[in-house]
Parts: sequence; C-alpha cells; structure tokens
Amino acid sequence: MLFVIIFVFAVFPALISWADYLKKVPAYQFVVDGEVWFTIADQAALEKVLTDYQQQYLEKVDPDAQVKKISFAQDVQLIPVEVRKDQIDPFPQAIEKIYAVENEAVEIIIKKGDNFWNLAKTYNMTVADLEILNPDVDPHRIYPGDKLVVSPFNPVLDVIIELENTVVEAIPFAVQYQKNNNMFTHEKSIVREGVEGEKEVVYHITLRNGYQETLKVIQETTLKEPTNAVVRVGTRTTVYRGGRVNYGVVQGKRISSTYGWRIHPITGQRRFHEGLDIAANHGNPVYAYTDGRVVEAGWNGGYGNCILIDHGNGLKTRYAHLSRINVKVGQKVKTGQRIGAVGSTGNSTGPHLHFEVIKNGKTQNPLNYL
Ligand SMILES: [Zn+2]
Repeated sequence: MLFVIIFVFAVFPALISWADYLKKVPAYQFVVDGEVWFTIADQAALEKVLTDYQQQYLEKVDPDAQVKKISFAQDVQLIPVEVRKDQIDPFPQAIEKIYAVENEAVEIIIKKGDNFWNLAKTYNMTVADLEILNPDVDPHRIYPGDKLVVSPFNPVLDVIIELENTVVEAIPFAVQYQKNNNMFTHEKSIVREGVEGEKEVVYHITLRNGYQETLKVIQETTLKEPTNAVVRVGTRTTVYRGGRVNYGVVQGKRISSTYGWRIHPITGQRRFHEGLDIAANHGNPVYAYTDGRVVEAGWNGGYGNCILIDHGNGLKTRYAHLSRINVKVGQKVKTGQRIGAVGSTGNSTGPHLHFEVIKNGKTQNPLNYL
C-alpha cells in the first residue's frame, strides 16, 4: 500500500512532465535560401520585425514616391511547423540574425583637391556609382571635411524596393541666331529671351538596401513647350578678330545640364544648377564671353580650375572645370579671346564647360546670353 502511494506521488508527476516535454507546439521556421535561420512561436511579432527591417530603407526616399513592392533579394520563407518548446529560439536571437551585417559602409573624408572624378578612379568605381552611393551630395559642392560613402552598407538580408516617382523637369530651349551685317562679330543682342518648357517624367526605380540599382524613364509627357531664344549676332568682322566668327564660349557637343532646379528622382531633393554644362572634348579652347577683366583665375573648390570675368555693368561670367588657365587675375580680355581649355577638374563627371552668367550678383540662364 505504502509502495503504491509512493509510486503515485513520485513517478506520476515525472511522467506528466515527460509527456509535456515531448508535446509539440505550433511554431514557424524562418528559412533563407533553403537554410533554417531560426524557429519562433510568435508569427505576428516576427512579421512586425521584418516590416520594420524593410521600412528602414525607405527613410531617405521621397515621401511622394509610390512604393510598388518591397521584397528580399534572398528566397525567404516562413514555414509553419510543430516543434518541442525547447526547439524554439529566443526572440532577441532571431532579431540579431535578421539585422546581421556582412560589410559596414566605408566612408572617406574629402581632402583639398579631391573631386568625384579622381575619387572614383582611386576607389576603382565609376562617377555614376559614387553619385548613387551619395544621393544627398551635390557633386558641384563638396568641400574638404565632407564625408563620402565609397563602399555601401551591405547587410546579410538584402532588401529590394521598387518605386515609381513622377517629377517635373525642365525642357531646355534652343537658341536661334539672326545674322546682322550692321553689327560687328563680337556684338550680339537678345531679340527674344528663351523660356524653358516643362515635362512630367515618370521614373521606375529599384533600390537595393536603399541604394539605386536601376533607374528607368517609363513615361514622359510635355506639359509646356519651350520658347526658343532669338539672338541677333553681327557678321561684320574687325581687323583684330581676323575674320573669325565665333558665337560661343566653347565648341561643344551638346548641353549636358541646363540652368535651374533639378529634382533628385529618388530622394526628391531639389538642387539649383547655377550654370549651363556644355559637354566638349578635353582640351577644346574656352573663349571669353565678351570684353572684360579677369577677377578670379585658379582653383575654386567644386568648380576646379575656374575663371571669373567682370564685364562691367554688373555682368560677370564664370568658366569652370578647366584643364588649363591661360589668364591671370587683373588681366584685360577681349571677346572671343582664348582664356583656357575644357577639362574635368573639380566636381565633374566628365569633360565639360560649366558656364555661368551673373547679373548684379544673381545667376541668369546662360542660354539667354549665348
Ligand atoms: Zn555645371
């Protein structure tokens, strides 16, 4: 009798806890590319962690952009399973695995003389890559002490975000010339000012861990046609000009960037481009816009090798990213005089002339002056 009592009170509870131990409970396995990362019980809590993890990469995205899809680059599955309680992993351990990092971002500090062109070369990447890694940085305005990312933050679990963003962009106007034999070749007058047009551009963008992976224009709609500028130019030549007719400040290939506001299609940030970029061959001569006196000639931060000419009457012109400067501060220059050569110094993505027109301290659309 005593033995039976001992059996009931001593062995039976042990049997209950043994059965309890073997008992299986519903749980979820987090499987990445076929490999089980962890097992958790609370599905809703895990989904919240995953959503937060993905959402962090939307922080710098234009709030007006439309998010089309958020996913992982890896094949991620949440599989319902039945496991023993001791096979469930502690939740903090699961969070740690999700947020694991393969490579931290590498940042450098800008030194005097650095520019996107040289830095890209040093870090064995393209200028476009460098711009993608630093969407907040205006390549025309980097200064010593500024930081630049040269290698992206790379987590173990990669987040892919698909966006669509609609931005309004400028349509540059063309300049029509009217030849006039009563005016000298160095004379010109604006008959009609040009007005930029407007277009609505829809971009389709994919981001990998917040950085642009692809960017495509999927639709373009003209909202307003540009009005071409009409400029009267003289054809009468003078002796010192030697009969050469030259209307512009450089012989270029095309206008690579116009004057005015630019909207970054990913961040939605607005930036003002103070000049006109004319893509041209490296070494092409750069000519003075009109008669004047050189007030700056030398290195000027993001402008690289740069010349500023004062033409009097509140008019100044700037020539940036030059490979060579042929004039000195204080020197008088004549219309069409060779003052330097096209280059890619300062923050430049390739050989071009950045030409600025400043009237009474304010920049103007140079297309109205060329
Ligand atoms: Zn420019």
